[in-house]
Amino acid sequence: MDPSTVIFLLSLHLLASGGLLHLIARRGPPRSGLHAFAAGSALFGLSYGARLVFGLQGGSLSSVASDVVMVLSGLLFASGMRQFTGHDAWRWPLLAAITATFALIDLALAVALGPRARLATVNSALGALFLTMAIVTFGSLQRSERGLRVPMGVLGVLVGGQALLTAGRAVSLGLNGSPALYQGAFAQLFYAYTSLVALLLGPCLVWMVFVRLNLQLEGLATHDALTQLFNRLGLDEIRRRHFGIRGHEPLHLLLVDIDLFKTINDRHGHTVGDSVLRAVAAALLGSARAGDFVARFGGEEFLVGCVGGGDAAALALAERLRAAVHTLAVRPHSGGDETIRCTVSIGVSRLVEHAGRWDAALAEADRALYAAKELGRNCVAAAPSAPAAAHAVRPDERTSVKT
Ligand code: GH3
Ligand code: MG
Ligand code: MG
Repeated sequence: MDPSTVIFLLSLHLLASGGLLHLIARRGPPRSGLHAFAAGSALFGLSYGARLVFGLQGGSLSSVASDVVMVLSGLLFASGMRQFTGHDAWRWPLLAAITATFALIDLALAVALGPRARLATVNSALGALFLTMAIVTFGSLQRSERGLRVPMGVLGVLVGGQALLTAGRAVSLGLNGSPALYQGAFAQLFYAYTSLVALLLGPCLVWMVFVRLNLQLEGLATHDALTQLFNRLGLDEIRRRHFGIRGHEPLHLLLVDIDLFKTINDRHGHTVGDSVLRAVAAALLGSARAGDFVARFGGEEFLVGCVGGGDAAALALAERLRAAVHTLAVRPHSGGDETIRCTVSIGVSRLVEHAGRWDAALAEADRALYAAKELGRNCVAAAPSAPAAAHAVRPDERTSVKT
């Protein structure tokens, strides 16, 4: 294929995918970087189009303009990738300043040294920008959500390859002169690869945004909005996963209920009640061991899974949770002196060895919780058959263990 046809197709492709990305970005999530990618893609397409209209070998002012638009596109791609990976996008004044500086250098080189120097500059700049994009992508791979690693890896390899080839183009230009840009094996390779990148860039970005949205949706569906703990759906998922593992460990269910929570609501209002719920949730989560799970089970009830220990370990954990909440002093108004204290009662089930025991264990924990309330609240009660080791719970508080 002759260079003009390849560049025409490339231009068309980039313009079309820029338009499509723009439409997706309008309905897409904020801070996905898609707007920047859409603008970058469309501008790249325009600048390739301009190259065709004003002649491939350049030399005129219009070629400088097309170089500048290409560099701005590269900046937009790198900025979009920054935004997707959680950094701030580069602001317009910064983009304008870099683009203007490049424009001056490009123009000066074009006037002083001719098109070859200008083309070497624009290829070096674009190579550096693609390299930046690859570095930003690979740099954030480790701390990205797991499902994102494959699409981000693909994107990183694509733009990393583009960076190498673009830098290679600058070198080939220096060695072999301007005709090498469009003729010969290296030029063929460059345009074949660039076409591939132009083809895959849009789908790859949409893939990344789709995976992230899916993960966010999953998070929203399985977590409670107030406390950020697992909700019932999340709990079902945990249970399924836990008992789905071959050789899974047995666990105990701890049902935790805030004592006389209604009076907190009645006295201080629902908003303050919500702050107390959040604080209790954080205290429970902070006191659970790694491997345990904590879920919001109902209004002011929480379910804690104590995984892998015996009855004594479950009771010790329950006592730790009770004590952690007992020492809480919730400040409902930031900066204010008022503090609210609350306590919890906890019912502990017997050992749950398999998924089939789940509902029965819940009923055991519920009955034990009822017993703890009967005992006067702010205490732990275990379902019958827990061993006497349970009595190891701290005796100094109003703690009691009913078995
Ligand atoms: P007990 O010690 O017997 O458990 O008494 P209690 O007052 O905690 O129990 P009760 O079941 O009578 O009251 C629970 C209260 O929890 C009633 C309900 O309004 C409140 N509640 C449930 N969900 C929320 C919530 O999301 N936010 C707030 N602020 N209150 C909630
Ligand atoms: Mg309750
Ligand atoms: Mg309660």
